[in-house]
Amino acid sequence: MSTEYDAVIGLEIHVQLSTKTKMFCGCELSFGDEPNVHTCPICLAHPGVLPVPNQTAFEYALKIGAALDCELSPVSTFDRKNYFYPDNPKAYQITQAATPFAIDGRLGQVRIHHAHLEEDAAKTIHTGGAGRIKGSDASLVDFNRGGTPLVEIVTEPDLRSGSEVREWGQLLRATIKQLGVSDVNMEEGSLRCDANISIRPVGSETLGTKTELKNMNSFRFIERGIEAEIARQKEVIASGGAVEQETLHFDPSTGELHSLRSKEEAHDYRYLPEPDLVPVVPTQAMLEEALKLPELPAARAARYEGIGVGEQAALLLSFEVDWAEYFEGVLAADDSIEPRVAANWVTGEFAAELRKQDDQPLAESKVDPASLAKLIGLVASKKISHGAGKTVLEAIVADGSDPEAVVAEQGLEQISDSGELEQIVIQAIEDNPKPAEQVRSGNEKAIGALVGAVMKATQGRADGGEVNRLLRQHLGL
Ligand SMILES: [Zn+2]
Repeated sequence: MSTEYDAVIGLEIHVQLSTKTKMFCGCELSFGDEPNVHTCPICLAHPGVLPVPNQTAFEYALKIGAALDCELSPVSTFDRKNYFYPDNPKAYQITQAATPFAIDGRLGQVRIHHAHLEEDAAKTIHTGGAGRIKGSDASLVDFNRGGTPLVEIVTEPDLRSGSEVREWGQLLRATIKQLGVSDVNMEEGSLRCDANISIRPVGSETLGTKTELKNMNSFRFIERGIEAEIARQKEVIASGGAVEQETLHFDPSTGELHSLRSKEEAHDYRYLPEPDLVPVVPTQAMLEEALKLPELPAARAARYEGIGVGEQAALLLSFEVDWAEYFEGVLAADDSIEPRVAANWVTGEFAAELRKQDDQPLAESKVDPASLAKLIGLVASKKISHGAGKTVLEAIVADGSDPEAVVAEQGLEQISDSGELEQIVIQAIEDNPKPAEQVRSGNEKAIGALVGAVMKATQGRADGGEVNRLLRQHLGL
């Protein structure tokens, strides 16, 4: 019998803080500017310069620690992590190793081991004969990024699959985004995620040898990379081999994993306390400020589910504050609308219509929450059919007109006279003898053709449930 395996995954997430200036100097933070225009003797590591910590960066970091339900350290210290690479002119990175600013937290089902503050490395660009220096094969360094404040979040190995990592990663990103301390843009590298992955036989408590999957710029790619690595490790073990400790890169275009370095090449960082910086002791005011948190996505999703919103819609609404506010605006405009129904309209038809019409951002939509509430109310009270509701939606998204005016202009009001509808149903059965006969002889699916005929005759103004009921009655079902 073949052994079944569980995957065990922990994450290290780097979050660039969106402060005005760098971690230890006054250089401006930027993305996409000309290379090497935001530099100074401190971030270029000229001899004799001294780092000056950025207080706002520390305040932002504390907010992240608080949002992750961590214990905030009364004293935290900086250390030097030594390594030699062109992206690091000091030949060491200032980080927090011995006493990070936050420990022992939790977000959702995942425990947070700790979060620490550090400075980002500069960006290396390998031209490979293309790029800025045409025809030459060069490695270039852009020091604009060097010294950007970073919070590294280290989780316990509590995740079990690629999809769990994607879902949890999206929750983490939404949570930090709401704090307003980072733009968490993965494509621009302001949120980066490494995953430590191992497998073990089901029921075993011993951790297997782990590999590290580096730096992918979307949670979809991370999910695929992790699934590929879990499959690879299972194959290695199934063929009698042993998983070796190594660092891997996943290429989303080919689906392949490449080894970047093995354990033998691993660095010894020779951590030592940073002698140029005193320990950081956050004031009571700083701690209190950090603990003033807004309602965060996980709590909001739970609240929405509590009022009957479906799980998927609750998550979609909770991950984007402006969508959550819009949804609540709809509820506030008409308290007779069921939250579940409102959430489905907002995240379903309405979001789809915005995308269809020039990918309109919500903030620029011509439809205010009260207007959408009116439309939902028209459908819920059966003044118009669901199909007619979509026609109205298309019109109001296009020009912001009033839903009731659109209904009047286009004559979309539902046929409320059941005698009139009954006549149309009888006519439809007469005009379509073949499907009518099929339904009578037991093929109930054939009723769809008759429903279609009635809808066509009424231009979508009939209530679907009522049409079905009348058809079944007249077909003797
Ligand atoms: Zn600088």
